[in-house]
Formats: sequence, structure tokens, C-alpha cells
Amino acid sequence: PVAALLLIGATGCAGADPSGAAADAAAPNPGTIGIAMPTRGEQRWIADGDNMVKQFQALGYGVDMKYADNDAQQQAAQLDEMIDRGDRALVIGAVDGTVLADALQRAHAKDIPIISYDRLIRGSADVDYYASFDNFKVGVLQATTIVNRLGLRSAGKAHTIELFAGSADDNNATFFFNGAMSVLRPYLKAGTLVVPSGQTTFAQAATAKWEGANAAARMKKLLTGERLDAVLAPNDGIARALIGALREAGYGKLPVITGQDAELDSVKLVDQGVQTQTVYKDTRELAKVAVQMTDKVLSGEKPEINDTTTYDNGEEVVPAFLLQPVSVEKANLRSVLIDGGYYSEGDLA
Ligand code: BGC
Repeated sequence: PVAALLLIGATGCAGADPSGAAADAAAPNPGTIGIAMPTRGEQRWIADGDNMVKQFQALGYGVDMKYADNDAQQQAAQLDEMIDRGDRALVIGAVDGTVLADALQRAHAKDIPIISYDRLIRGSADVDYYASFDNFKVGVLQATTIVNRLGLRSAGKAHTIELFAGSADDNNATFFFNGAMSVLRPYLKAGTLVVPSGQTTFAQAATAKWEGANAAARMKKLLTGERLDAVLAPNDGIARALIGALREAGYGKLPVITGQDAELDSVKLVDQGVQTQTVYKDTRELAKVAVQMTDKVLSGEKPEINDTTTYDNGEEVVPAFLLQPVSVEKANLRSVLIDGGYYSEGDLA
């Protein structure tokens, strides 16, 4: 009689759902993933979010994605909601990597795994894994473009540069800056590269909140003296704001200027020879790494990592999977971005 009852129950289920979802009902619902992204104000984070949503959904997960308007308090509140709602895992692109320790502790108390996305979350022993790019290398690529374009040598003609860095509350920003300075420092020492303002420390070069307007305001103050041959710009948004400031100040021929993210607006400028370079970080690949990590952890398996030494967050060294960034200039723009399917030729028009 028990078997018969079960059979009736099963038949009843299938009959009640003509869509054929009976098979799904047998598979456990994998649950919902909380995705906390920093801002919609930059193209790259929109691409990151969209890619993750697609990939999590393809694996059958639900998604609960929130953007935080670059406001750390708002992001902490969003994480609290995700934890209370019972999201199974959290993937976090932190606004301020230093203020999430309490939220993460609450998540871990509920066995919710935490993946730090692109930016390292600092000051917490509750970060399980980190998915990112080789962030030091990003700065190395930017500075290498400057060295090559200016033809810098250890002796000879001096060139001028001003240095801009990202937001001090973003762990990546110091990695980018240190990577760039590792390449530029020998020329600064030799005197073939000169910073007219004398502002060469990270603190002096930093741009609060990665806001282009903040960088442009600083540039205006610096543009009173010598003509600049190069500008170290940490990302595309800041590069475009600085190009605006340089033009306003009367620059026709622009200095060599770097960037990062291969945002479409900047890729067009690189194609036109206005912005010299951008660093391409394929957000589809980063999403894939984060989604695989999350899925593995939730399945009780070990995710693939390739770095266990670099990312010390003050409480622990977080095991990471780091992707390789690619320098893009006009000459390789099409082979990298169009042949790679990141953009189409029509996007560049
Ligand atoms: C990211 C960059 C981005 C910057 C500003 C960094 O943490 O790695 O790709 O340009 O934040 O959002």
C-alpha cells in the first residue's frame, strides 16, 4: 500500500504540471546566488553582472543581483538582505574592501560561502576565494606602453609625465600603481622621465571613488606648467576624463595616455588614436571563473586556483584564480577585441 500511495503521489505531481517540469522537481533546486556589484556607473561592471547572471542561470541557479551606487554602506545593507533571504553563496565586487567584515562573518555563521570578485575584500578571515586578474601586471602593461611610445632610455632626452591612480579603498588600485611604478621608477631615477608636479606617491596620485571628475579636477591644477608627454591613467573612465581636461587646457596633440577595461567608448578612442592604450580584461572569463568557483564550493568540491601567495588581506592569504590582462593599442585592437568576439566591427562605428 505504501508503494501504491507513492506512485499515486508521483503521478499526481506530473499531472499537475503539464509543462513537463516533473523531471526538474526530482533534481534539487540549486538555490539563489547573491551577486553584489559596486556600480552601474562604469560599463565594465554592467558587463560583469550580465555575464554572471547568464552563466549562473545556465547552471540552474537563481540570481539576486544588486548594484551599490559606489556606496559602501548601501552594499553592506544589500549583503545583509541577501544573507537574511537565504542566498546560498555571495559573489562580491566590493565598493570598499575594508568594511565588509561583519557582514561576511554573519554569512559564514550561516555557511554561506564568499567569493571576492575582481577586488580583494580586506580585513576579514571569511573570504573563501578570490577571482581576479593579475592586477600588478595591469600596471606593468600600462607603463610598458608609456616606455615604448616615448622611447624611454636610461640616458638622453627627458620626458614629462603625470601619474594618476585609482581609489584608495580599492585593493586593486595599489597593485595597478605599484605595477606601473615598477616599470617607470628606473627612468624617474635616471631623470629621463620627470613628474613636473613632483607627485609620485600613491596617496598623491589616488582618485577618490575612481571618479573621472576628481581626476580631471586634479589634472587642471597640474596643467599649469610644462607640456606633458605622457599620463598614467589607471582606467578608461579616468582616461576619458583626463583627455577632456587636456583638451580644455588647449592640448591639440595629446600625451601618451593609458587606460584599462576596454570599455567601448575608450576602444573607439584607441581606434581613433586619441587614447593610446587600454588593458583588456575579458569579463566573460572572469565571470566564468567566479561562477565555476561558486558552483564547485556549493558542490563540496575544490575550485581550481592558481595563486596562493599574493593576496594577503590582512587576516588571511586568500586563494585566488588570476586571469591574464592584455594590452590593447590601435595595432592589435581588432585581432584581440573583434576576433575574440568581445565587440563587433559595428560596435566600433
Ligand atoms: C577594477 C577595474 C576598474 C576599477 C574602477 C578596479 O577594481 O579592477 O577594472 O576600472 O576598479 O571600477
